[in-house]
Amino acid sequence: MKLAAGFFIALMIAFAAFRARSLSRSGAIAAVVVGTVIFGVGGWPWAILLLTFFVTSTVLTRTFKQRKSGLSEKFSKGGQRDAGQVLGNGGLATLFAGLTAFYPDDPRLWLAFAAVLAAVNADTWATEIGVLNPYPPRMITNPKKVVEQGTSGGISFFGTLAALGGAALIGVLAGVLSPQGISWTTAVTVTLAGLLGSLFDSLLGATVQAIYHCPTCDKETERFPLHTCGTPTVQIRGWKWFNNDWVNFACGAFAAIVVSMI
Ligand SMILES: [Zn+2]
Repeated sequence: MKLAAGFFIALMIAFAAFRARSLSRSGAIAAVVVGTVIFGVGGWPWAILLLTFFVTSTVLTRTFKQRKSGLSEKFSKGGQRDAGQVLGNGGLATLFAGLTAFYPDDPRLWLAFAAVLAAVNADTWATEIGVLNPYPPRMITNPKKVVEQGTSGGISFFGTLAALGGAALIGVLAGVLSPQGISWTTAVTVTLAGLLGSLFDSLLGATVQAIYHCPTCDKETERFPLHTCGTPTVQIRGWKWFNNDWVNFACGAFAAIVVSMI
């Protein structure tokens, strides 16, 4: 019964997001699966965390679209989220919510679930709000190296502050809605895990993420096989299979590991 209600709510939200062009067709199908498990197996507290991530990231992406229009060539995908992005951000959270069907009283599942969402939320906020930083970012692996805005692995003051805000919003909600009763320890640990997860995301972006170069525009980009200008891009660093979706997945996994250790 709960599962059917979850499916119905997830279907309505995914359809609305598809109509609003926030999700592609494959993204909407993946969102129905993610939403059905998180709403239907987890329940309202779990759904509120997921929706907080979904709504704030959608609003931020739309708000800063204009400002970022010159940067979109850097990012591997446009504003419409596809299945890879939905699962990269929400796949692991879905797994933890689903596991509560088998281990309903294990408090670690709520912590791991919240930490994953805190990390992907922190990463999204940092990406969207980081462009407001008045100075260009610096590489996380080499603070002396100034890079163009939008470069994978680049960090800035505003971006890091935004990451903290994104992690803290999910962290506080996780503490207030905790199945074990209100817990400020949960709020703090989830926030910390989320922030560390997003920094790990930048570290991967600077090292092993697949990064390409467009010979026509002479620019670094995540886009493959074609740049926004239509020219085929050439890989210049990273692991070929390790695209942005895997980076997001690893960012959430890192946060789940951190929260299980604190
Ligand atoms: Zn180009």
